[in-house]
Amino acid sequence: MYEKEILQIVELLHHAVYAVALTGAGISRPSGIPDYRSPDSGLWSRHNPYEVGSIQGFRYQPARFYDWIRPLATLILNAQPNPAHLALARLETIGILKSVITQNIDLLHGRAGSKTVYEVHGHIREVTCISCFTIYPAQDFLPPFLNNDQADIPRCPKCGGVLKPNVILFGEQLPAQILLRAEQDTRRADVMIVAGSSLEVFPVADLPRRVKEHGGSLVLINLEPTSYDKMADVVIHADVADILPRIVNQLEGAAS
Ligand SMILES: [Zn+2]
Repeated sequence: MYEKEILQIVELLHHAVYAVALTGAGISRPSGIPDYRSPDSGLWSRHNPYEVGSIQGFRYQPARFYDWIRPLATLILNAQPNPAHLALARLETIGILKSVITQNIDLLHGRAGSKTVYEVHGHIREVTCISCFTIYPAQDFLPPFLNNDQADIPRCPKCGGVLKPNVILFGEQLPAQILLRAEQDTRRADVMIVAGSSLEVFPVADLPRRVKEHGGSLVLINLEPTSYDKMADVVIHADVADILPRIVNQLEGAAS
């Protein structure tokens, strides 16, 4: 399936001067990480994420936030990069891909070997004290909490304030510098590959339109249709973990 489309993508990437990727929850689904925005994720059964996963909810009831995030955080910390993450890292190594703009907080692009990654929704690499703003590595605080049901929520060793993972909660501003760099790369991009994003969360969902506006090419690989399908040059409705490695194989001249 999709031989013709894959050839088209290979051709676009072969001639690309500045290709970038934009990824969302769909690229981490094959690694076992659900989309926490989706009611199908299983994370909506007891709590509404828009309430408990908001910055107001966090400040008001951090214990409830940690109760909600516990299953997701456990899955993320135990997850491994899948062939889609590895394929994008390979595309960067061979000089075709310049950056990955991701909506994911799970660190899997970096762990797969991607070097230039713009995490526009934050990440779980660090935690920040909401009282004194000291930043700590998350690995010192999250695993001990996640591995012990009885543990108190993570707190700042300096001041006792609550530690918040450096993920962007509902109601919080996106990190301005990261978003700026993502926009700069979008401006330079002659090819953008959207992999595993339904393109529903703004402002990131607006980036593909800007690539088209300045004459770049848009490739969409996502299980479900998106509102950008009509605008795209190539559209594939399939698992990114299947499609991206086939693209890399063909680019590198191997039999696929
Ligand atoms: Zn503190």
